[in-house]
Amino acid sequence: MRSPGVLDVDHVDDPVLPKGGALLKVRACAVCGTDIKMLEKGHRDLTYPRVPGHEVTAEVLDSDCASVRIGETVQVWPGSSCGSCVHCRTGNDHLCPQVKIMGFNTDGGMAELMAVADPSRLVPIGDSDPVLLTLAEPLACCINAQEKLRVGEGDSVLILGGGPMGCLNAFLAKRRGAESVMLSEPMLERLRNVPNGLFDSISQPKGDDLAEMVRRGTNGTGADVLILCTPNIRLERSVFQLLAPGGRLCVFSGPRREDSPVDIDVREIHYRELTVVGSYGNASRHGREAVKVLREGADLSWMFTGRYGLDDVRHAFGHASGRTGQKAVITF
Ligand SMILES: [Zn+2]
Ligand SMILES: [Zn+2]
Repeated sequence: MRSPGVLDVDHVDDPVLPKGGALLKVRACAVCGTDIKMLEKGHRDLTYPRVPGHEVTAEVLDSDCASVRIGETVQVWPGSSCGSCVHCRTGNDHLCPQVKIMGFNTDGGMAELMAVADPSRLVPIGDSDPVLLTLAEPLACCINAQEKLRVGEGDSVLILGGGPMGCLNAFLAKRRGAESVMLSEPMLERLRNVPNGLFDSISQPKGDDLAEMVRRGTNGTGADVLILCTPNIRLERSVFQLLAPGGRLCVFSGPRREDSPVDIDVREIHYRELTVVGSYGNASRHGREAVKVLREGADLSWMFTGRYGLDDVRHAFGHASGRTGQKAVITF
């Protein structure tokens, strides 16, 4: 990415093995909604020119540390943090004031080679599918959000937005014991690969359909948990009204700037004891947990609706931004 809207494939100098780190040969790098947003509009954390890509699995080509073996395949946690501040020490290294994210502040995985200085960012994936394991990063974002939302046994979960993050959040919510997962998504054709049972009910967001689905799905009480997996929803009163008393809501997708200032009736938060949380990225412990979940044999390969070579990166971005399928992945 040279500047907003300008994406090229070019030759760059090979990275060198960092002292104490590892040199990686990328196996797969998936395209994230954030990559699309970065290309179209820029991003708060992006500086140019930049090799994008933060959903990466790779093979270790060379290593300068005992914990990383040459030849093994790893998932790469996208952050690099200071390791000593209070956030780093308490399991929230993604909140480190000095965190740098690959694909944003440093070069990422849409390249044949990568250098990683901090070996603790590399999580071995054994003989698991490197394409499937690119889901570890987005799944880790869901784990971060659902930990804050305390999703668990018996919860009714409402997801707004049926893209990859909506689907992964549904998968995780079911795994954590949610009783029902409801979805609102305007482009039903993007759900054609979604297996039966991932969502218990699906509605179009227009008109009264959504409120009616939630009433029907929850015996009139409202959803216990609501996850905003699309930037195309303004957080207005009608959204809060979808929640049950004691409901929890997560601002998960990055909201559009023009939709960010909202009027919230704080009395509703007070009297109905609602919880509003934010989540952005994931901590390295969430990444390790996501690798574990995927290695247990999660059947999510249906999510990869577009596979491309690096020379076809524009088509990969087109597949993701068209929002007609789910995940686009670049393989090497
Ligand atoms: Zn992402
Ligand atoms: Zn730190």
